Amino acid sequence: MYDVRSMKAEDFIDDGEIRETLDYADQNKDNVELIDSIIEKAKLRKGLTHREASVLLACEMPGKINEIYDLAEQIKKDFYGNRIVMFAPLYLSNYCVNGCVYCPYHIKNKHIARKKLTQEEVRREVIALQDMGHKRLAIEAGEDPQMNPIEYILECIDTIYSIKHKNGAIRRVNVNIAATTVENYRKLHEAGIGTYILFQETYDKEAYEKLHPYGPKHDYAYHTEAMDRAMEGGIDDVGLGVLFGLDKYRYEFAGLLMHAEHLEAVHGVGPHTISVPRVKKADDIDPEAFDNGISDDVFCKIAACIRIAVPYTGMIISTRENPTVRDEIIRLGVSQISGGSKTSVGGYYEPEPEDEKSEQFDVSDTRTLDQVVNWLMTKGYIPSFCTACYREGRTGDRFMSLCKSGQIQNCCHPNALMTLEEYLVDYASPETAEIGRRLIQNELKNIPNEKVRQIVVERLDRIKHGDRD
Ligand code: SAM
Repeated sequence: MYDVRSMKAEDFIDDGEIRETLDYADQNKDNVELIDSIIEKAKLRKGLTHREASVLLACEMPGKINEIYDLAEQIKKDFYGNRIVMFAPLYLSNYCVNGCVYCPYHIKNKHIARKKLTQEEVRREVIALQDMGHKRLAIEAGEDPQMNPIEYILECIDTIYSIKHKNGAIRRVNVNIAATTVENYRKLHEAGIGTYILFQETYDKEAYEKLHPYGPKHDYAYHTEAMDRAMEGGIDDVGLGVLFGLDKYRYEFAGLLMHAEHLEAVHGVGPHTISVPRVKKADDIDPEAFDNGISDDVFCKIAACIRIAVPYTGMIISTRENPTVRDEIIRLGVSQISGGSKTSVGGYYEPEPEDEKSEQFDVSDTRTLDQVVNWLMTKGYIPSFCTACYREGRTGDRFMSLCKSGQIQNCCHPNALMTLEEYLVDYASPETAEIGRRLIQNELKNIPNEKVRQIVVERLDRIKHGDRD
């Protein structure tokens, strides 16, 4: 149908093909035979095409939706076990020259307090995050070539990695900054970043141009091809996402999967993660102004369909979602969540005064990291602070191979238990530590290899006595 390898992302994620996909999905949303065959294919755990997954998303039969949910849950368990990777966003600067109509950073907003962290402030923020127990950050910044040039971002990354505080260091810095050049991506790669994250916001070009009326982000092609440039610059792990609520969700879903197909075809490796943010209330932004908001049920269905369509891709849910939604959606295939997050510039070190607010949007899950960790463990999940893959160079297709080989239970599972033990000893409240210890004891049984289990038992004991990775 397509010679995908020679196509640019913008050409491949074609409006015509997406519209045909949506028609096809509409025509087949009650076609039980086809839906069953797609679910059977998904059970092979090799993924689905955007057309197939779009049929499942369009299906409204409760029995079939339950089957999709059960399969999503099972696939998550098979590939990722019951681990949930923890991270926090770190806002460096909210100076921005763009005009994104959903984001309070837009240049015409004279109301929001503009802030940019100095290196000393970066240090204070990182120490505050480390004191909570975080080991993995996602840095965030507005787009402003004068105020936040690539040199500033690189300096911040350097500062973050250099901070050794009490029991550890930040070991993985993911980066969510505006689309940039191959040369700048190469610099980010050389600075040792983890995943480069960039949300497409919307795949509908016409809507995109209206939602980004001016500024460098207005250029749809430049934005859509950013991941290709990132990979050309040497970055192995890229994270996709759309901002749900801006435009029609079924269109976005098909576009997102086509983007994943494009990366797999051209670079031999799909996206490392997919994020599913929903537009939120923020300084001068009212989410009601966008009439494509999606219900919690639809949101969960999107997550489940993503999980079975791209089984090896991590899925991220942020604190934009409230605890009730997070409680429901987590079982449908989520592999990473943020906890204890602040979206203000400098908000971890000290709360902002009322008249100096710099937040990007309102956080809906305001629990502390300890509370989030406690909640996850009570539900039987293992909060993981592990960054071993990254440190051992298991990124891109090497990570995907580990995932596909089913060896995660012998590798990631023990690492997660050990980093959780470190967290419990160093940062957890007594109640959380108690729940965690019981969880770890139970989970030791799930390490299939006897020798590995013995090593983990010894390592856990050493951690209790002060040893750190
Ligand atoms: N400036 C970079 C860019 O334009 O891609 C970094 C992005 S910004 C700090 C991170 C993401 O926040 C954006 O990509 C957007 O999807 C999301 N965002 C912006 N406004 C939002 C809002 N009102 N509610 C929820 N998410 C929002």
